[in-house]
Amino acid sequence: MRRIGIMGGTFDPIHYGHLVAAEGARYEFGLNRVIFIPAGRPPHKPDCNITDPSHRYKMTCLAVATNPFFQVSALEVERPGPSYTIDTVQEISRLYPDAEVFFITGSDAVMEILTWKNFERLLSICFFIAAARPGYKLNELWKRLVLLPENLKERIFCMEVPALAISSTDIRQRVSEGRPIKYLLPEPVEDYIQKNGLYRQ
Ligand code: ATP
Ligand code: MG
Repeated sequence: MRRIGIMGGTFDPIHYGHLVAAEGARYEFGLNRVIFIPAGRPPHKPDCNITDPSHRYKMTCLAVATNPFFQVSALEVERPGPSYTIDTVQEISRLYPDAEVFFITGSDAVMEILTWKNFERLLSICFFIAAARPGYKLNELWKRLVLLPENLKERIFCMEVPALAISSTDIRQRVSEGRPIKYLLPEPVEDYIQKNGLYRQ
């Protein structure tokens, strides 16, 4: 059976943390491909603080260009209204009816899973891969998910990724203060940010 990974995120901007997590998941779980899906309107982030979807989409394309297993989908960016993971996974399942879908997220995001729209249905139609840093207390994750029925818990896998304390928030902050972002994200993305004057005050 084919296995499709979905890497969802705001990607404002995309960085090596996202790429390392996606590549680790691809290898460990034998995924045939990983589809990066920039969120159109993340339900949990205020609209005004988010960079235009077309910039985030283009930066994501630049970042994945050198990995033949990676591709980008404009599905969420083109869909009007807030971007709910359940709608996205359902759409991917329709596009790949004979594939298993694995949704890759950071362990910080998976902790919030109980607050996601239709999370029970979501967990019944896809698997989750939670990327944790080595030494991260996974007990904490299971403690948070204690109310989840056992058969749904079994659909969440954990994966260790090298300690990458990289975040988009930090990168935006650095750009606004004129500090370097080199080596935190792929060079073409860095060039794109500079050419388009993103994240300056
Ligand atoms: P922001 O700081 O704006 O929230 P972010 O760096 O957390 O940005 P997102 O686009 O919010 O990036 O994250 C998309 C997904 O990637 C989430 O599931 C998040 O947990 C995961 N992620 C983000 N940074 C890392 C990292 N350094 N290592 C592993 N996973 C990460
Ligand atoms: Mg985040």
